[in-house]
Amino acid sequence: MNLPFIDLAAQQRRLRPQIDAAVAAVLDHGAYVMGPEVKRLEDRLAAFCGAKLALSCANGTDALALPLMAWGIGPGDAVFCPSFSFTATAEVVPWTGAAPVFVDIRRGTYTLEPAALEAAILDIKAEGRLTPRAIIAVDLFGQCADYPALAAVAQMHGLKLIADSAQGFGATLHRTHPIHWADAVATSFFPAKPLGAYGDGGAVLTDDAALWERMDSLRIHGKATTSDLVGASFSHEAKYLSARVGMNSRLDTLQAAILLVKLDAFADEITRRNRVADRYAAGLAGYVAATPSVIDGGVSTWAQYTIEHANRDGLAAHLQAQGIPTACYYPVPLHRQACYATYPAPGGLPVTESAARRVISLPMHPDLDGATQDRIINAVRGFNG
Ligand SMILES: *Cc1c(COP(=O)(O)O)cnc(C)c1O
Repeated sequence: MNLPFIDLAAQQRRLRPQIDAAVAAVLDHGAYVMGPEVKRLEDRLAAFCGAKLALSCANGTDALALPLMAWGIGPGDAVFCPSFSFTATAEVVPWTGAAPVFVDIRRGTYTLEPAALEAAILDIKAEGRLTPRAIIAVDLFGQCADYPALAAVAQMHGLKLIADSAQGFGATLHRTHPIHWADAVATSFFPAKPLGAYGDGGAVLTDDAALWERMDSLRIHGKATTSDLVGASFSHEAKYLSARVGMNSRLDTLQAAILLVKLDAFADEITRRNRVADRYAAGLAGYVAATPSVIDGGVSTWAQYTIEHANRDGLAAHLQAQGIPTACYYPVPLHRQACYATYPAPGGLPVTESAARRVISLPMHPDLDGATQDRIINAVRGFNG
């Protein structure tokens, strides 16, 4: 029998009655765009992660772009980010006209290495062509980057810090969420993420009310905000007074309603995911080149369970033959992709290059039962490649 990589059907079986009721409520009230569930979800997301404010939007990519746009980052600016990530982390930077600068990761956790970040900032400053403006750290595979160290670097150089928590919404470091250290936290509700909708969605968390207001304007076509209207006399709908060039990036009410149900189950799902991860670690240690390391004091949401193997592709074929799917995140680091070839990657990125050749992710979801997981563990152990 072929196993699912992420068993969304099992989750739906657990939550279906509540989801049906939530969807029916939206069909009944009919406010499909910016309906009451959207604000309710924003309040709940902020509370879940200890942020003052949350702003929902159409997807996780826009959630990264919105703070960059709101801060006026643009041509001539540098935004530092890891190369070992999904393309969305970097692609929003050229949207603004700025340049991504690719930085290496820490061995073991795959998150942005603060020492490499510092070196890259100094390199870009010395070169003098680009102005450092912001850092995007990624909570890769579900765990927090080293935010205390990254925030210290950001502060020293006067840079904004964004947490790309598309995979790590809900993750903590010393019981504290990334918003404690970051100026903005972006997340995604793509269905396969730990907190997934039934379509696209995203959100930005921030403690900065002025930033929230500018992003709220940008997500609705640059509509005039309360601050924009101070002293103005405009009696029509705010979106018909364009205060800035914005975009259309709203979260559908239906997705907000579904996410409210999923958020109720989310804390328990994080616990279950950690149980699955612990069982993998116990079963696989010594049989593969590396099982995942989590930063000291960190609790991961385990978006992925990623191991390393010298013959990663051989292991994938061996598991596939037994009906066990795997995935490779990410085989080609961003600085090696043709569309990013002209952007800097100071010092080369040796840890990134090595990880891209060796990583392989195993099935991971909160409904993975012990017997099924033992089947996966035994199959991995049985590979002699
Ligand atoms: C999924 C993901 C995104 C983008 O989210 P979308 O909702 O698909 O736009 C950004 N960064 C990382 C690290 C991701 O995994």
